[in-house]
Amino acid sequence: MQSISPETIFRGNNAWEKSLPQIIKLTKYPLILGRSIHTNSLRNKIIFDLKNHKLDVNSANLQFDCCFEDISRIKDIILKNNHDSVIAAGGGKVLDSGKYIADFLNIPCITVPLSASTCAGWTALSNIYTKNGQFIKDIALRSCPKILVYDHKFIQTAPPRTLASGIADALAKWYESSITSSKVNDGLVQQAIQISRVLRDQLLIDGEKAFTSQFEKNPSWRNIIEACGLTAGLIGGIGGEKCRTAAAHAFHNAITQIITPNKFLHGEIVGVGLLLQLRLEEMKNNNKLAEQSIKQLLVLMKELNLPTSIAQLGINVFENNNLERIADFTCREESEIHFLPFKIQKQDIVEVIEIFEQQKIKI
Ligand SMILES: [Zn+2]
Repeated sequence: MQSISPETIFRGNNAWEKSLPQIIKLTKYPLILGRSIHTNSLRNKIIFDLKNHKLDVNSANLQFDCCFEDISRIKDIILKNNHDSVIAAGGGKVLDSGKYIADFLNIPCITVPLSASTCAGWTALSNIYTKNGQFIKDIALRSCPKILVYDHKFIQTAPPRTLASGIADALAKWYESSITSSKVNDGLVQQAIQISRVLRDQLLIDGEKAFTSQFEKNPSWRNIIEACGLTAGLIGGIGGEKCRTAAAHAFHNAITQIITPNKFLHGEIVGVGLLLQLRLEEMKNNNKLAEQSIKQLLVLMKELNLPTSIAQLGINVFENNNLERIADFTCREESEIHFLPFKIQKQDIVEVIEIFEQQKIKI
């Protein structure tokens, strides 16, 4: 069984208002789930509008991350109050928590992304972390959300950094799926990979234009936020688990194991992981195009103010055994790194990171 997309999608300006008649039909007593204080006013608007439509609404916030501690606390609130749906309004962590809880309790989930930082509003997948933001695992859910509301007016209020992060995460789709799945003999998977190539091209062409003028009247911005929040999710839906993540996300998952004072967004870390993946392809698979891809990506990443080394994520790999810890986690048995079509050992990871970080330090 494959869940390709949310059952209903509302997008564009005032998508939230347009979705209200459908939401009212689906739920009478929703729990609104959020996290950041910066998006409180948007959630207050959501609550206000739902109450105006005579819905009995309650709200709860994540304290930490998409972690089992928060998940079990929110589950208890839902069970105690008999909520009949979850409306997750926020970034990727909030959306992933809302989807996981709703799936577990078998109630509908409505996702309302409040930035373009991720395609989590679309997918049937939740990434689980510890309270401190260390990646634990991905959990496949039974279905995509019931309703996805992608309101451009909401997305426009998000910090520019979230868009840059979404672009880096969406770029990874092509570089990861094409290397892991190009030999898969399944038309739908091949077509999903082709969509990820078109998506990458659009991000390379329009990413910077979208970033520098984050307004609805800018067609590049409209295209790019939908590329990050919707098309990237569609690729995962069509390609399914065969359209896999590979080294970029494996590096992301390993880097999150090092706790730093400043938190970085998912896509910001995936972007660095993507550069490392390409360096690895060049070293281990003799891929001559990888070097060109790195150069091409670095231009865009610098324009988007994205970090381009582990050091820029606030981690010195040469102290506290950090390099060893990242390499160990990258190579653990269940890691996506092993989806690469060539064998990877811990020493390869140590080597590629050493070279990568030393080059950056020289710059
Ligand atoms: Zn991702």
